[in-house]
Amino acid sequence: MDRYALFGNPVAGSPSPAIHAAFARQTGAALTYQKQAVPTEGFGAMLTAFFDAGGKGLNVTLPFKREAFDLAERSTPRARRARAVNTLWRDAAGALVGDNTDGAGFIRDLTANHSVTLAGRRVLLLGAGGAARGVLAPLLDGRPACLHVANRTGARARALAGEYPHANVGGGDLDTPPGAFDLIVNATSAGHGGAAPRLPADILAPAGVCYDLSYGAAAAPFLAWARDRGAALALDGWGMLVEQAAESFYLWRGVRPETASLIAARQRFLPGC
Ligand code: NDP
Repeated sequence: MDRYALFGNPVAGSPSPAIHAAFARQTGAALTYQKQAVPTEGFGAMLTAFFDAGGKGLNVTLPFKREAFDLAERSTPRARRARAVNTLWRDAAGALVGDNTDGAGFIRDLTANHSVTLAGRRVLLLGAGGAARGVLAPLLDGRPACLHVANRTGARARALAGEYPHANVGGGDLDTPPGAFDLIVNATSAGHGGAAPRLPADILAPAGVCYDLSYGAAAAPFLAWARDRGAALALDGWGMLVEQAAESFYLWRGVRPETASLIAARQRFLPGC
């Protein structure tokens, strides 16, 4: 049995083990994938112990993605752009390699699964944490007309936007005309507290698209806001979660699992959502 795991804190509610179990059944792979709550100070030691004991691959979630990036001996360009790692493995020489599949999973869900085009769109990215950092560069790769980063703590939005001086990116507070954005991406964790981020009421363009990286109940407040404003599409991050998992599975095993059936079966993985 090849061993994989998710390290984070908290991880109790994560559907990732069920997703990877489904991928394993689908591809005939003999593997285990377990979630492991890791104490704040224990990440590095547990990571080393996991790989020394023969672990094949690790997913990393809050609050360890930055630490995982710092610990990786080799990282991919997309991990370096995000400065965060959610997927780790050891290469043939034993070096710890880190990648970030969040951005690829998000873009695949948005553009391939939901046929949303980015070229020429006016995009608002809410949040300046790890998830916002992971999706920003992939969004820019889609050549939007402009991309604005806004965050509760404005200085963090300005700092993140400032990392892309050659792109058409703005950062900070929102002082925009009505209908200013065709696509609003919520990469905040506000929904975990039962609220949507505070936004001007008229900011979404007619038939605009809203996407919340959170999934299940945590996405409900922002998606309700989006529907109230007439969004043509109001999407949560379930599809992104499945797609980023598929990308990790591919990196580890060289086989790309089929995702559509899992995304359609969300009720089985997120009961009641
Ligand atoms: P971080 O803790 O790194 O960042 C949280 C962000 O949310 C910060 O910008 C913070 O603002 C903002 N925020 C928190 N509370 C509020 C609030 N009440 N009102 C407005 N803004 C708020 O978290 P991540 O970036 O890692 O995760 C963000 C979300 O993305 C989570 O809900 C997570 O579940 C989801 N996610 C989904 C994935 C998927 O595969 N679907 C993958 C990765 C993440 P400030 O700077 O002011 O503190």
